[in-house]
Amino acid sequence: MVKTFQIIDRGDPKSREIAERYKKSLLKGGLTISQTPDLVISIGGDGTMLKGFRDFYNPSTAFVGLHTGTLGFYADWSKNESELLLKSILQEQPQLEKCPLIKGEFKLQSGEKKEYLAMNEIVIKSKSISTMILDVKINGEKFESFRGDGILISTPSGSTAYSHSLWGSVIHPTIEAMQVIEMASINNSVFRTLNRSLVLPKNQQLMLDFPEHDDDSIIVGIDGKEYPLNKIQAVNISVAEEKINFARYRTFPFWKRVMEKFLKEY
Ligand code: NAP
Repeated sequence: MVKTFQIIDRGDPKSREIAERYKKSLLKGGLTISQTPDLVISIGGDGTMLKGFRDFYNPSTAFVGLHTGTLGFYADWSKNESELLLKSILQEQPQLEKCPLIKGEFKLQSGEKKEYLAMNEIVIKSKSISTMILDVKINGEKFESFRGDGILISTPSGSTAYSHSLWGSVIHPTIEAMQVIEMASINNSVFRTLNRSLVLPKNQQLMLDFPEHDDDSIIVGIDGKEYPLNKIQAVNISVAEEKINFARYRTFPFWKRVMEKFLKEY
């Protein structure tokens, strides 16, 4: 049973009110608040869960989300079910569904290295109207020369987010893979790309190799947050060893959610 928790909310009155009610009931039920909690409860939307991941990710922590707007992919309990979810947290042992994350290792021209985990995606794109130039390598071998707006690397869970807007495939969130998507690639006799998304399995590595540049023309976004990384030399991205645990108090109907979000007419 869950013994320690954290609650994160979107900040709007409805989410705040539910978060306060949850906190009181969980403390009354004998649970305690911890910085490395057994369970992170996100109240708001999928974006709120991304913040919860940034603030509290730990391989042994589980996450559950309640949506105060329309149902999401991470926030899969509706606000009308808030009492039911609260009762489940207090009384039941959840099943843990493990979903893959991706890891980005950024090597800067200064020699500095930075590492980040992403739950949705890593986006590397040109900050200006000018194109971004780089070599794409797979497992150390040159694959293609890219010139265009940018490259997005998505987790399976992120395939319904930014990746979907760029015509990426929807991938079941438990499949151990990452999807690489080109953003407006130029194809001519010098720069030639596959011009389709690639799906790489675990243990394979994507490397983006940048020519030397002395401006800060590249922008890095991870799960919707911008990271100021100056003069990137190369980026290695792979499916991470670490996974995220989702606490399932009932089965999560992924394909039904895809149908409801993208196909259903209201
Ligand atoms: P935001 O720009 O305020 O929200 C973007 C939207 O993406 C929200 O509707 C959010 O749902 C939804 N979303 C987030 N993760 C999702 C997922 N795994 N599957 C389906 N929908 C998802 O920013 P935010 O709320 O902090 O979310 C950051 C995410 O926005 C990024 O990770 C990126 O995937 C996405 N984004 C998309 C585009 C685009 O499609 N052109 C551009 C930039 C960023 P909720 O309303 O439930 O929070």
